[in-house]
Amino acid sequence: MGHRLLMVGCICARLLYKSQGFRLDDYLEGAGVELAELLKKSVIVAAHPDDEVLWFSSILADVDEVIICYNDLFDDAKTSKGRKRALAEFPHDNISSLDIMESGVFALADWENPIPSAYGIELNQAGRRVAVKRFLRQAKGFALTKKNLTPTQRYERNYETLVEKLRVRLALAQNVFGHNPWGEYGHEEHIQVFRALSQLREELGFKLWVSSYASKETLQMALGYVDLSKPPKNHIKLPTNKKLAAQIMKIYQRNDCWTWFDDWQWFDHDIIMEAPAPTALETWGQHHLFPLNVILRK
Ligand SMILES: [Zn+2]
Repeated sequence: MGHRLLMVGCICARLLYKSQGFRLDDYLEGAGVELAELLKKSVIVAAHPDDEVLWFSSILADVDEVIICYNDLFDDAKTSKGRKRALAEFPHDNISSLDIMESGVFALADWENPIPSAYGIELNQAGRRVAVKRFLRQAKGFALTKKNLTPTQRYERNYETLVEKLRVRLALAQNVFGHNPWGEYGHEEHIQVFRALSQLREELGFKLWVSSYASKETLQMALGYVDLSKPPKNHIKLPTNKKLAAQIMKIYQRNDCWTWFDDWQWFDHDIIMEAPAPTALETWGQHHLFPLNVILRK
């Protein structure tokens, strides 16, 4: 799919935005970046099917490619199949999956004391106990395969696989849009994608942009990521594409694999910002703050 990056996909971007009824200049003025530049050789890298539309609906119709990282859930064949069907029904044919199996680590990080790691985020002791229980339950009746690794082991292995696969796919990319360092609402695999993309940004030199969604659980960690080297103008506010989002949500729901709130109302704007370094976590000081879209609900 890398060849798609060679296509000039952003020429009509201004017209597309016009068709949504928005004046682009209102949004990009002062952001220090032209839309044509932002969308040049552009790729959204989303952890799971539906992340692309939850966090990046504003640019979803205009990027050159959308790459989904984790598709199959090893303990939920029904949702896995539904995800495959949903991707096949996607309104644009520039979406594809790396087909990496999920590691099953959701909710295993300690959000009282989140610690970034080389693979994404540390799992805490309580999390490990949950992981062992989950592992024992899942391992029952399974043959000795990758499925029988602990969630922590699967998480670490997935990191290597993810970097390997993305390195090939992003070789020609100029603008990559991915998850933020706190994983929006704190999904450990979103954080892993951020970490992998950060490593590849160093190697390949593309510009890495992240969403600014956060939740009650992740807000504290999000506040720690302030890029002290730049003024707060390096964020871009774009209107969400609610029509497209509703269309895609229905596709996931129809295929029983919508993993988010059924009554979700999209924010009016996505705020996209240049990614901080994974090590840029600051715990005190005086900082400019970037705008955040915060999700406060159960
Ligand atoms: Zn996700």
